[in-house]
Amino acid sequence: MSRDAEQPPFWKAKSLAQMTDSEWESVCDGCGRCCLNKLEDEDTGKIYFTDVACRLFDSEACRCHDYANRSAQVPDCVRLDVENVGSLNWLPSTCGYRLLTEGKDLYWWHPLVSGDPDSVHVAGISCRGRISASEADVPDEELQDHIVNWPNRIPKAARFKPNAVAKVKAAKMKAPAK
Ligand code: SF4
Ligand code: SF4
Repeated sequence: MSRDAEQPPFWKAKSLAQMTDSEWESVCDGCGRCCLNKLEDEDTGKIYFTDVACRLFDSEACRCHDYANRSAQVPDCVRLDVENVGSLNWLPSTCGYRLLTEGKDLYWWHPLVSGDPDSVHVAGISCRGRISASEADVPDEELQDHIVNWPNRIPKAARFKPNAVAKVKAAKMKAPAK
């Protein structure tokens, strides 16, 4: 086994604070869940996700229309950094930054693990196909009608690694019709 093969990947070997800019950016799995509008219960502090996206979110591409200039375009867009990432209670439980901050590993669908930027979509983790509206079209008082649970959940299919899913599908195809 080569020396390189023995090295853990950078997200296991380094803390978030030790990462280069490009490593830091690559911790984002591209799910888009953080770009959803959220509501906070003033009494309990509980965060509720909606399926209404930021006006700068491209729901087809599942990415920010203008990531480089996002702060100028959307002043309340929160830039994640080493200082704030541990205190943002609205980051979804599947977020790469949140997972690493909590000492957990990245899931199989993370592009850094899978090597495939589409895996976050294939796993059903991303927002692609799940946005009902842009915030530009939904008045604040109607946001509560858009509350959804999926942005903090892991779909059943995503709990298995792809080869396990493939085996399950193959087994179903072989099962005799009833
Ligand atoms: S929730 Fe986290 S992993 Fe998903 S898009 Fe936002 S920053 Fe990236
Ligand atoms: S400005 Fe871009 S990165 Fe920020 S919340 Fe909106 S879509 Fe997401």
